[in-house]
Amino acid sequence: MEFRCIDECSQCCIEREYYPTKEFGKIGVLILPEEKSRIEKLAKENNIEINILPRIGISEDRNSNPTKILAYQMMGIEKNGNTCPFLDTSGKNKSPHGGFPCKIYKERPLACMTYPLIENDPITLDQKCKFCKEHKTADENLNSEIESLLKIKEKMITNATFIWRFATSIGEKEDQAVLKSGWILEE
Ligand code: SF4
Ligand code: SF4
Repeated sequence: MEFRCIDECSQCCIEREYYPTKEFGKIGVLILPEEKSRIEKLAKENNIEINILPRIGISEDRNSNPTKILAYQMMGIEKNGNTCPFLDTSGKNKSPHGGFPCKIYKERPLACMTYPLIENDPITLDQKCKFCKEHKTADENLNSEIESLLKIKEKMITNATFIWRFATSIGEKEDQAVLKSGWILEE
């Protein structure tokens, strides 16, 4: 079945999930180090405030903080971590499938170009995507998404001994007590 966005859907630019567990907080849109200054520049040009936090770091020493960052993440603008700052929710404009449009669509981060494919091994469809939930499968019209995901996977390959994940401390009001903040070593 050919993949196409569900009419009027903007869910993947709005809803953010806890990952890998609730204590790590909600994640943002993955931003590669080489994309960071370009995205910051686009935000400035569009007069949009963004918050980019680290996501994955590496080190050779388990007692130090990461010495290199492999990926950052752009956080949502709502207190609970939802809604990308670049999503135009004014209702004045529509995307081609009738959802809220992305203000930087042509220059959006590589991670946005991969969706609804996700970085699991093997590559899978994110079952939270509205299309995937409804149709369960898609095997056509995903070539550019596969290409983008492979580019990200290639950038994330590392031989480092220790891998760290940044806990964002951002989440729903009722989850505040369990949310952690800062670097956590992956065991
Ligand atoms: S990729 Fe999926 S969740 Fe995102 S807008 Fe399209 S149908 Fe909706
Ligand atoms: S940058 Fe654009 S495509 Fe990516 S999450 Fe934000 S609004 Fe959606």
